[in-house]
Amino acid sequence: MKRAKRLLKFLLDVFFPKLCIGCRTKDTFLCEDCFSLIEINPYRYCFCQIPKRLIGKYETCSSCPAGYLNRIYSATNYDNKIVKKVISELKYRFQLKDLSIPLTILILLHLKETGFDFKSEMIIVPVPIHKSRERWRGFNQSRLIAELIAKATNTPYCCHSLIKIKKTKPQVGLKRKERQENIKGCFSITDSSVFKDKTVLLIDDVYTTGATMEECAKVLKEAGAKYVYGITVAREVST
Ligand SMILES: [Zn+2]
Ligand SMILES: [Zn+2]
Repeated sequence: MKRAKRLLKFLLDVFFPKLCIGCRTKDTFLCEDCFSLIEINPYRYCFCQIPKRLIGKYETCSSCPAGYLNRIYSATNYDNKIVKKVISELKYRFQLKDLSIPLTILILLHLKETGFDFKSEMIIVPVPIHKSRERWRGFNQSRLIAELIAKATNTPYCCHSLIKIKKTKPQVGLKRKERQENIKGCFSITDSSVFKDKTVLLIDDVYTTGATMEECAKVLKEAGAKYVYGITVAREVST
């Protein structure tokens, strides 16, 4: 057993050496210097394609499309090269799952900057992936982040009552309308009592057109959720 473990460590070191994703510094997946290059949004923005900064208690801007999702919090912008790389590495390489820690820190710092209050009626829920995909990949990256936020803020957490029931094509490369069509009817609730009168904090890695979050928010509202706030590491502004 010990030998097997040593061999595994050796192979991991050879094939996946612990190097900073930004600058290749040794013994870390993301060094402090590279982390500090990620700019945290001190503001909350609306849902519009060209997002407007929201000040005070406004949920959206006056021209925002009416939807199920009430707010979106995104810690940083997806055009930051380091953020982009960390998110994609975390998605496909389980041995880099510790990268969920700096991503969680970005979210927590953003929530602090925007004056977010964790309240007792809140529940943290990751955007689910299909179980066959989770089995194949070994994990759901949004779930890793959601679990860490729940732990750090002592907020209730649930990862099994909102599920993805249909497999979909990847959303990447699809247009806004195609994304909405692709994701329609893909989510389901297994136990609606979990969400009744709650404010659901829906966690995902990237917010692009919001089609996925909007579809999740729809079923959560139908299950009795009062509010649904999307919280993501990054926002990609589609052009
Ligand atoms: Zn670095
Ligand atoms: Zn707007």
